[in-house]
Amino acid sequence: MIRAVAFDLWETLITDTPDLSRSQERLRTSRMEAILTARGYGALADRIEHAYRALWRRCHELYWSADLDVPCRRQIEHFLEELEVDVREFDEAMLAELEHAYAHAAVDVPPAVVAGAAETLRALKSRGLGVGLISNTGRTPGYALRRILDVLGLASSIDVMVFSNEHGACKPQPSIFEELRRGLGVAYDELVFVGDNAYVDVHGAQRCGMRAVLFEPPVRGTAVAPPVEHGLTIVPDATVHALPELVEVIDSLGARG
Ligand SMILES: [Mg+2]
Repeated sequence: MIRAVAFDLWETLITDTPDLSRSQERLRTSRMEAILTARGYGALADRIEHAYRALWRRCHELYWSADLDVPCRRQIEHFLEELEVDVREFDEAMLAELEHAYAHAAVDVPPAVVAGAAETLRALKSRGLGVGLISNTGRTPGYALRRILDVLGLASSIDVMVFSNEHGACKPQPSIFEELRRGLGVAYDELVFVGDNAYVDVHGAQRCGMRAVLFEPPVRGTAVAPPVEHGLTIVPDATVHALPELVEVIDSLGARG
């Protein structure tokens, strides 16, 4: 019996177009530049872009490539290190200001909701199913994503949210799926996970004993072969090309026991 359905966040429930990403990026860098300038670090202005990009690569090397994650504040410290300033020069108030600017850009320029997401979540909830979410967070931490999901009208349909920057590990690590499972209060074989990434979402969920649905919007083409990633052939329990198809898919997976 299926008692809960959980979702990946980025590119499954919400998405950033290239324009939205650029606007968020401009907001982050311009606000951080204003903060640094106001505190007498205006000379760093022309290195901010470089440090911003170097930070992303550094997080990949240090954390994300090993499925680890860190609090947003640690990203700010790395950003300052990339600017070649000593983090110890900055007081708590300034670090908090920089973190706020960095974390909230996507609150002020919110991502778009994937077509059908809101009604699909509501439809699943109205069937008495628990609804969960796990996000590998990237630049926008969990506390900002909770606000974004609230503003976009999705939060009220989600019972449990787990964010990698708060958990300390990313999908496909079993520990992050375990936090979700415990929160929803169900067994793995009562839980279905839905996501757009065959490796982190489908493989990650299946190896914990969950069933997994690959969300593959038609715009990406019609792949017929099972995806091969990390040397694994990954076969989802079902594939949907639009989120509303899920309601029927969950019914049929449940009927299969
Ligand atoms: Mg995704």
